[in-house]
Amino acid sequence: MDYNLEALIQQWDGLGVVCRFDQTTQTWVFICLHDNTLGPCTGGTRMKVYSEPGEGLLDAMRLAEGMTSKWAAIDVAAGGGKAVLAVEKPLEGEERRGLLLRYGRLIQSLGGGFRTGEDMGTSTEDMQIIAEEADYVHGFDPEDGSKVDPSPFTARAVFAGIRSAVSEVLEGSTLQGRRVLIQGVGSVGANLGQFLKEAGAELLVSDIDEPRCQRVADLLEATYVPNKEVYSTACDVYAPCAVGATLNQETIPQLQCRIVAGSANNQLDEPADADRLLERDIVYVPDYIINAGGALSFSLLDEGLSDRQALLEQMDVIGDSVAEILREAGSKGESPFEPASWRISATESPITSICSSRAW
Ligand code: NAD
Repeated sequence: MDYNLEALIQQWDGLGVVCRFDQTTQTWVFICLHDNTLGPCTGGTRMKVYSEPGEGLLDAMRLAEGMTSKWAAIDVAAGGGKAVLAVEKPLEGEERRGLLLRYGRLIQSLGGGFRTGEDMGTSTEDMQIIAEEADYVHGFDPEDGSKVDPSPFTARAVFAGIRSAVSEVLEGSTLQGRRVLIQGVGSVGANLGQFLKEAGAELLVSDIDEPRCQRVADLLEATYVPNKEVYSTACDVYAPCAVGATLNQETIPQLQCRIVAGSANNQLDEPADADRLLERDIVYVPDYIINAGGALSFSLLDEGLSDRQALLEQMDVIGDSVAEILREAGSKGESPFEPASWRISATESPITSICSSRAW
């Protein structure tokens, strides 16, 4: 894969990339602004060690595109954006805090053109630090100002989506006794497991962190599945809740499920994977719709809804969207990826890039 920074920026169809290099921590910062047709570019901030800076930029670009679709799909007046802090090594303590404060100042300097929240590798505590410098951090409780963790809301929306998909694909079936395999039992996966257990599903769990996986398996009375057996294990629903690109040329032929529905972003390695799944008669629930619960909860918090139970119940609308998309796809005999795509409203925009490594 060619991760040349210039080539990536030249080829991208987004609005622009804000790029900074943090000398103190040797971190590349990429804020990718994809589309602002519906509102200001909004998306999480990911902190991760990449093989090279371009890999981080490409990740941010793909995630920003996904956010454009996600906001459009859930009818929220926001546009697609995403930020990546491509760190050289995991950061802790004052080093981490310093980077986050400088990053907060960068966000503030954009005057609301980019708004953010947590993503993989960043926490609610990190967002509190960024908010010391920037007014554009989402997900604070309107009543007491505390930072809200989006994961339970994302999990509840994924649960609602799986419930709808099972009912649509397996002819009115409920989740009772259905085998669901969760790949990645972190913040979202573990919460999802709890909702599914309460609904009577038979759970299978897998995670690269084996001790964590065993703990969650015991708690949920789930069957532990070793990593190398994830794709070939028979189940009704495979729920990817770990990393992206797990649906690819190599894994799709191995799948032994009827439905793929999970929280991970960018589950398809390439668009052609949607057709590969269709050919195998496996129903793919588009990730940016089923995993939109966290985004939706933040937008409801911004509107002043703070009651946790009411917020959780609001997540059921994602189940309705999933049912609508699957019906539309079924009637046309095409992948659900296609009907979902009409919701994307990307515009043709000139590319503008702001690159700097000056002290900030
Ligand atoms: P997390 O970091 O809390 O959990 C991820 C889990 O996946 C960890 O337990 C990790 O050990 C495991 N994992 C990592 N790589 C793996 C691999 N190759 N195979 C198996 N397991 C692996 O993250 P999270 O907040 O639970 O998010 C999970 C996914 O959902 C991510 O892709 C994230 O971008 C997406 N997502 C999360 C939210 C949210 O509200 N947290 C919202 C939308 C999308």
